[in-house]
Amino acid sequence: MAAFGTVFMPEMALARFDGQGWSNPEIVSSDSLTLHPGAHVLHYSSTCFEGLKAFRHADGSVNIFRIDRNIARLAQSSELLALPSVDTAMLQQMIIDVVRRFASDVPEPPGSMYIRPTHIGTEAAIGKAAAPTVESLLYVLLSPVGDYFAGGDKTLRLLLEENGARCAAHMGMVKSGGNYASALQPIMKARASVQADQVLFCPGGDVQETGAANFLLIDGNEIITKALDTSFLHGVTRDSILTLARDMGMTVSERELTVSELLERSARSGAEAALSGTAAVLAPVGTLIHNGQEHQVGDGKVGPKTLQLRQALNDIQWGRAADTHGWLTRV
Ligand SMILES: *Cc1c(COP(=O)(O)O)cnc(C)c1O
Repeated sequence: MAAFGTVFMPEMALARFDGQGWSNPEIVSSDSLTLHPGAHVLHYSSTCFEGLKAFRHADGSVNIFRIDRNIARLAQSSELLALPSVDTAMLQQMIIDVVRRFASDVPEPPGSMYIRPTHIGTEAAIGKAAAPTVESLLYVLLSPVGDYFAGGDKTLRLLLEENGARCAAHMGMVKSGGNYASALQPIMKARASVQADQVLFCPGGDVQETGAANFLLIDGNEIITKALDTSFLHGVTRDSILTLARDMGMTVSERELTVSELLERSARSGAEAALSGTAAVLAPVGTLIHNGQEHQVGDGKVGPKTLQLRQALNDIQWGRAADTHGWLTRV
């Protein structure tokens, strides 16, 4: 199986903003884009994106998960980056149209069609270091993906980083390229030095998130995660898992979590920790590495609550449980 995100459908949906309004969306080849080398995005990082999925159900229908949330987040990211304002109704139609066009290529569960809306500043203006682009391009790429856990469900090792931050504090809730570039060196160093899979950024002891996923601690019947603020990315999976946890009668605590409380609680028997995001839904965490010491989370193995919550979300996505929250849009 090819690596996640390396296979693309041959066409994508695309619309241009010319300073006045949006062009009619078109379906065009996804092989390449023509961009002026002075395009705003290439110099001043006026770029944001989304990641959501479409699922094939047993009845043959294709269903997109929480499309409204991802569109709203792209509109918010665009606004915070001073990109042209996204026409959300147009974007919804672009996503539905391109998914419908490639409906027969949507893999069966546990696979899915990963959808990548992207918005970039295209004005050729290298003098605009401190001014917004007036032109932009919005496109929707599709990438069929397989089973995230095909290699087995092994637990992750996270390095707790208390000194560095993932990105600038006011950029945390923006799904923008520069934030990933900014987290890359810490992640590469953590891989090389302590064989960590990811870095859990905890600036000043405040447990935030990893480079591309939210962090959840499960202690008995309670699930604890940082309350929403502008410092980190508001995951749609995080919100969905918390909703399902409440449905199951778990106590959901959205609040500050310090590194010391995390280490104390995660050492308890039965404690679990997981990363949440669209790609994996929930990926179990087995080890926290802090100040050169390794701390096992619970028994260090994949926990039952993590599996139960992931299954509950997968069941809705795959059409095996009732969509009681109205999360699916049939294309
Ligand atoms: C995309 C992303 C997430 C997860 O968001 P989902 O909507 O659940 O996919 C979490 N953190 C960061 C930094 C992200 O980029």
